[in-house]
Amino acid sequence: MALIEFTEKGLYCPPADLYIDPWRPVRRALITHAHADHSRWGMGVYAAHRHSIPVMRHRLGSIEAVGVDYGEKLRVNGVDVSFHPAGHIPGSAQIRLKFGKEIWVISGDYKLEDDGLAEPFAPVKCTHFVTESTFGLPIYRWQPQHEVMSDLNGWWAANRDYGLCSLVLTYALGKAQRILSSIDAGIGEVFVHGAVHQTNLALEHAGYSFPHARYLTSEIDKSRLRGALVLAPPSALGSPWVNRLKPYRTASASGWMALRGNRRRRNADRGFVLSDHADWESLNSAVEATGAEHIFVTHGYSDVFSDWLRAKGLRADTVKTAFEGESAEMKPARNGENDSE
Ligand SMILES: [Zn+2]
Ligand SMILES: [Zn+2]
Repeated sequence: MALIEFTEKGLYCPPADLYIDPWRPVRRALITHAHADHSRWGMGVYAAHRHSIPVMRHRLGSIEAVGVDYGEKLRVNGVDVSFHPAGHIPGSAQIRLKFGKEIWVISGDYKLEDDGLAEPFAPVKCTHFVTESTFGLPIYRWQPQHEVMSDLNGWWAANRDYGLCSLVLTYALGKAQRILSSIDAGIGEVFVHGAVHQTNLALEHAGYSFPHARYLTSEIDKSRLRGALVLAPPSALGSPWVNRLKPYRTASASGWMALRGNRRRRNADRGFVLSDHADWESLNSAVEATGAEHIFVTHGYSDVFSDWLRAKGLRADTVKTAFEGESAEMKPARNGENDSE
């Protein structure tokens, strides 16, 4: 019996009788992070890092949930369970399960760069490593965050000088807060769409703070938007909400902006390459740091990445899951919140 089985409901741990990031309702679920493709509705009881819980409650309503600290040791039917920083978004965790000689680490989504907001990624030794591969192609190589942010600040300042509003289309959980905590708030006022505001409030319950962000309510005078920076989910662009920002310029912030043509497809004037996922080099160094004898590759370019790992002499397999990666990030969602990833 393997410690982890890949089932139609999700990753299952038979000895502990619990699932990790299941996509169908189950009795007990360990959750790597609060993004919607990993944290779904309908579980009997949830366990996640304590910073994830307020966001999960905001999105899923009243759920039975247990908050855990990084490194805290749980024991379930003889299986040792612990959560370790994944560096993806606030509260994101890699989940480690140990039973006998087998140690599994399920990484969820992760990135190696310290973004100054999420607890930085910590490599965990294991025998079996389940990794994402959202950007598992050699063409994906991120610039350091401070360089991307300095480009973004420059774009904003130039728009301000022309009396324009700068609208950044970005995911409401993770990326928006990362931008809020690293932009130069000396350039002008910063406003956020309701979807970002609600997420900020949930994160404030977990101890984070976003002092520069003002909720863009209807009471805010239109004149204040000239020269301001506004953060909103991509779906806001197609709604009447955006009209009051006129005249404005738009930008998208996503790992997919590294691909030619994507900027135009999303109707943004500018694209900033900023991802909460590991790039090619980071995926490789993360896998190496685990020392794992068997690698399982999930969402993204899983076939390419597992072929590559095999060519390097590692044992690697692709696993089909319902995780979506950043591919879903910029898609407009029906509920207007764009919260699929
Ligand atoms: Zn995620
Ligand atoms: Zn994911």
